[in-house]
Amino acid sequence: GSADVECDVLVLGAGPGGYSAAFRAADLGLNVVLVERYPTLGGVCLNVGCIPSKALLHTVSVIEEAKSLASHGVSFAEPQVDLDKLRGFKDGVVAKLTGGLAGMAKARKVKVLTGDGQFADPQHLAVTAEGKTQTVRFKSAIIAAGSESVKLPFLPQDERIVDSTGALKLASIPKKMLIVGGGIIGLEMGTVYSALGARLDVVEMLSGLMQGADRDLVKVWEKMNAGRFDHIMLNTKTVGAEARDDGIWVSFEGAKAPKEAQRYDLVLQAVGRRPNGARISADKAGVQVDERGFIAVDKQMRTNVPHIYAIGDIVGQPMLAHKAVHEAHVAAEVIAGQKSYFDARVIPAVAYTDPEVAWVGLTEEEAKKEGIAVEKGLFPWQASGRAIANGRDEGFTKLLFSAETHRIVGGGIVGTHAGDLIGEIALAIEMGADAVDIGKTIHPHPTLGESIGMAAEVAEGSCTDLP
Ligand code: FAD
Repeated sequence: GSADVECDVLVLGAGPGGYSAAFRAADLGLNVVLVERYPTLGGVCLNVGCIPSKALLHTVSVIEEAKSLASHGVSFAEPQVDLDKLRGFKDGVVAKLTGGLAGMAKARKVKVLTGDGQFADPQHLAVTAEGKTQTVRFKSAIIAAGSESVKLPFLPQDERIVDSTGALKLASIPKKMLIVGGGIIGLEMGTVYSALGARLDVVEMLSGLMQGADRDLVKVWEKMNAGRFDHIMLNTKTVGAEARDDGIWVSFEGAKAPKEAQRYDLVLQAVGRRPNGARISADKAGVQVDERGFIAVDKQMRTNVPHIYAIGDIVGQPMLAHKAVHEAHVAAEVIAGQKSYFDARVIPAVAYTDPEVAWVGLTEEEAKKEGIAVEKGLFPWQASGRAIANGRDEGFTKLLFSAETHRIVGGGIVGTHAGDLIGEIALAIEMGADAVDIGKTIHPHPTLGESIGMAAEVAEGSCTDLP
């Protein structure tokens, strides 16, 4: 059929998956069109996810650290928080990055079309903005339409009930905040609001917060953060909410749940994310979308339609930016004729809370469940010179090795900067390293990263006494 725009590769959605795919495809000499319904590139991660949340988390971690200096003999006045300025800082961080992406797209001659994209058939996408529709004809397509937060149907429409996007707007600081869903996103936002003065409650249907991480890691976070919470309601369901003048009254169900409805100034729903598979007319292109909205792909990120690929949150868990980027590179390279495929052994996960909790590969819980014999090397930060000097020695570093091959299969770190440290363990797993490889690698002293070498030495039974 006729088309307004023609291209080799059409990328639908400009999040970390979409822009990475578009840039790699362009670098490989392909003619690329990138379609995004929002005016800025970067998707959830840059606009309303990873980046603005970290801008706020950085700010509050400095507040907390400054407070902690009282015990070192250094005290400051109570912080004065100018919410408009803080918001401005966060928005500036986002603008710098999204603006950078626009420049990178231009430099690579990636054509960006702003508008809502809907497949018309297996070769065409209709892009509509302000009532006008353009048609793009493509040879190959990469679907990177991402995900959105799940909304609980029984929560009323009210500006005091928000999802992560609403919470990041930082409209005001509530006295009392409820976090519905004790996962990473909810707990990160709770960290921000708590440091700015809110009292927190959290409600979680499952038996523990931060699902996916080993309990020993989470326990350290819990101990440090217990003071932020009035109630940590586990095995508890949120069953209703009523918006009244004096607050949102929420009722719960569960063995240890409060019998009466509780009043909150702000309710954050953070009960997970749902893929956007149902909103792109995938059926017109013949692409199968499952009932939850996910699109199935093979190791080369191909959907059931051979010239249409899908990447990122829309293809499944874990819904993480760094996973989307790697899948993006695979899809673009395959389209360019390379023999790439997605073969990451492990994908690290990080909660950027205080302390941070990071883990990668097999957890102890999984090893137990699957009957995999593992050996453990655990190094408590009470023995880390750097952690002690930082005044933050509550953390630990844990490595898990296959009892059979002695290769490293997993690891977890809880403590400040855990997220920045976990990459080394991911590398060690990808390289098939064993405890000796890691232990004999000279790490700089005194660093937190040194704890990884120490944990390996514990596992091989040769731990030195270097504090
Ligand atoms: P998205 O980023 O969701 O981008 C999809 C894009 O497609 C969107 O811009 C959307 O507007 C566009 N789109 C969808 N449908 C259409 C259509 N029909 N037409 C046109 N455009 C369309 N991950 C991390 O790894 N680290 C973190 O620290 C982290 N923190 C997070 C914090 C929060 C509060 C949230 C919500 C998420 C966080 N994530 C984090 C998850 C991360 O944001 C996602 O995994 C990542 O954005 C997924 O990238 P993606 O490219 O698949 O999709």
